[in-house]
Amino acid sequence: MATYSPITQLPTHAVSNQPPPLENINLFELDNALIEGLQREGAAAARDTLAVFGAQVGSEEILKAGELANRFPPQLKTFNRFGQRIDEVEFHPAYHGLMQLGLSAGIHSMAWSGGSHVAHAASEYLLVQSEAGVCCPMTMTYAAIPVLGRHADLANTWLPKILANDYDAAVLPFSEKSALTIGMAMTEKQGGSDVRANTTRAQKISASEYRLTGHKWFCSAPMSDAFLTLAQTERGLTCFFVPRWQPDNTRDHFFIQRLKDKLSNRANASAEIEYSNTFAQLLGEEGHGVKTILEMVHHTRLDTCLAAAALMRQAFVQAAHHANYRSAFGKRLIEQPLMQNVLADMALESEAALLLTLRIARAYDEAAHDADAAQFARIAVAIGKYWVNKRTPNLVYEAMECLGGNGYVEESLLPRLYREAPLNSIWEGSGNVICLDVLRALAREPNSLTLLLAEIGVAVQDVRIARAVDTVKKLLTKTAALENQARRLVETLALLLQSSLMLRYAPTINAEAFIESRLNGVGGFAYGVLPAGTACREILQRAWPRLN
Ligand SMILES: Cc1cc2nc3c(=O)[nH]c(=O)nc-3n(C[C@H](O)[C@H](O)[C@H](O)COP(=O)(O)OP(=O)(O)OC[C@H]3O[C@@H](n4cnc5c(N)ncnc54)[C@H](O)[C@@H]3O)c2cc1C
Repeated sequence: MATYSPITQLPTHAVSNQPPPLENINLFELDNALIEGLQREGAAAARDTLAVFGAQVGSEEILKAGELANRFPPQLKTFNRFGQRIDEVEFHPAYHGLMQLGLSAGIHSMAWSGGSHVAHAASEYLLVQSEAGVCCPMTMTYAAIPVLGRHADLANTWLPKILANDYDAAVLPFSEKSALTIGMAMTEKQGGSDVRANTTRAQKISASEYRLTGHKWFCSAPMSDAFLTLAQTERGLTCFFVPRWQPDNTRDHFFIQRLKDKLSNRANASAEIEYSNTFAQLLGEEGHGVKTILEMVHHTRLDTCLAAAALMRQAFVQAAHHANYRSAFGKRLIEQPLMQNVLADMALESEAALLLTLRIARAYDEAAHDADAAQFARIAVAIGKYWVNKRTPNLVYEAMECLGGNGYVEESLLPRLYREAPLNSIWEGSGNVICLDVLRALAREPNSLTLLLAEIGVAVQDVRIARAVDTVKKLLTKTAALENQARRLVETLALLLQSSLMLRYAPTINAEAFIESRLNGVGGFAYGVLPAGTACREILQRAWPRLN
């Protein structure tokens, strides 16, 4: 096939010292830590599929689709031209293409239909690197499946089409569609983290039918086919299933008031909605709504952790690629010792984030038949979500700086990654709420600490790790100050888990540099302060094999 190169010799100057475009690469095959992790954490069977998917998401076409889906964000159509209410959202075709790509790859379904949570995590980790916004509806659909599976009628009628590896964007009742997606609406104006403050009311009409009245302040992917939501009954906060269409195939009263004008995640719509005598079906028991919906939140949390790891990875890759080609002061940036330190530090952070995410995902797989694994997953995902997300914005910013001025320009992808970087820390439990949740898990299930220490324990012979374990134990004895110190506790636990994983599964050079800089006080507050003598070039070669 003929290639048409751009003109580099312009009338006034020659264009030089710019990197080639980073496209048509295999995001899977170039990620050694991911390939190893997949094998180690029990998802080797997904290797070939992921290799194909990695090439798709790294293709010029999909990267372009991600850009377009963001540049042309969704539009709300509240009414049709006749003044009738429709509450629909129109998306750019690129959005639909990306939804088709992810859903037909089974990102939402594979964990529940013969695949694994590890493979799910790896696939979504790859897709986020091209476009994060479409992953929100995929995550919510994935996470709703176990809750819906507990309800025989929904399991028989809805689940087969939710599990279908397909995307059907039509605005039609579920019975007329080939594939379905699910959203989640909990947050109200007066309280998001504290859902007990929810005021939406539910009135019982028959054994299975309720009518809801109230609002939700955030409801992402409002074009989903149904939503898990919370409302108050006489017995307290209760979980409901709200389909977009009523059983008689008329539109349910699901009124989209506005779309949020968001910092990022712009390809995905996030709406403010109102319920007014809205048809809903009970999920779980009345008054046990938080318990019911938390099963869904437990799964969305895994994805908030993997998405942050993915943003770090893509930011690092962009920076490494740039440094590989760009020269300054007579040498390529990748050959400059200080740039090597910055990039190697980022590579370590990215690898540790991925190792932790995949380990947690394995606990989700084992949880089906192992109570300890379920407990470990419950607490480890909170720890991982908190810490991996706290590390993301600064890493993306450093990656941006590695590109210099080019990094500040939209076309470079870095601004989009940068805007996206704080989001996964906010939704599905913001930082403080997550740390308090870790305290709650430790208090309610003391075995959680034993499990965490057992996981770390393999590496306790290391004096630096042993010292940090002591810090954790001391913090836990000071119960009066514990809430105030919850971030310190969770941060230390996260670093311990990551250090232990790095010691076991990363090259010694990587593990040593990670532990020295993160646990032994030899690092600093910015990236690029790995101790002297660190083999930065080797760390980089592993993290980005295309370096030359
Ligand atoms: C783009 C986007 C999409 C979203 N989509 C959805 C959706 O689809 N469905 C949905 O239900 N929600 C959605 N949300 C809402 C999101 O889940 C909430 O914003 C989030 O849970 C925080 O709730 P809040 O905004 O009410 O903040 P608040 O609960 O008021 O919290 C504000 C701050 O106070 C902290 N805080 C709270 N309690 C304590 C405490 N006891 N001690 C110390 N600090 C505390 C929190 O950590 C947070 O930092 C979305 C949000 C965003 C940004």
